[in-house]
Amino acid sequence: MSDCIFCKIAQKEIGTLIYEDELVAAFDDANPQAPVHVLIVPKKHIEKLLDVTQDEDKFLLGHILVIANTIARERSIAEAGYRVVVNCNREAGQSVWHLHFHLLGGRKMSWPPG
Ligand code: 5GP
Ligand code: ZN
Repeated sequence: MSDCIFCKIAQKEIGTLIYEDELVAAFDDANPQAPVHVLIVPKKHIEKLLDVTQDEDKFLLGHILVIANTIARERSIAEAGYRVVVNCNREAGQSVWHLHFHLLGGRKMSWPPG
C-alpha cells in the first residue's frame, strides 16, 4: 500500500530494520514504551488482526511469534520476561493501520493493561 508508513518501513524505503525475512520485518518503535520496544509486521499489507481470516495466514501469525522469541533473546529480555501485544481497532488503541505486534521488555510490567 503506497501511503502506508509500515509498508514503507518494511520495504526499506524509510527507517532501519533490525530483522527481516521473506514474510516479516521488525524495527524499533519510534516512541518506545519500554527499554526494548520492537514492532514486528508482515511484509504484506494487512490492516488489522481482525482481517486475518485466511488459512494461509496461520503460518504467518505463528512465524511472527517465533521471531518475537528470537528478538527477545537477542535483546536479552527473554529470561526476565517480555510482552507481545496486538492492538486491534479503536478501543484497543490501534493507531497505525498495518498489522503489527509490539514486543516489549526491559522493565517490570503491570497488569491489567490500561
Ligand atoms: P498502535 O497504537 O497502532 O498499536 O501502535 C502503533 C505504534 O507505531 C506506536 O507504538 C508508535 O509509536 C509506532 N509508530 C508510529 N509511527 C511510526 C513510525 O513512523 N516509525 C516507527 N518506528 N514507529 C512508529
Ligand atoms: Zn501497510
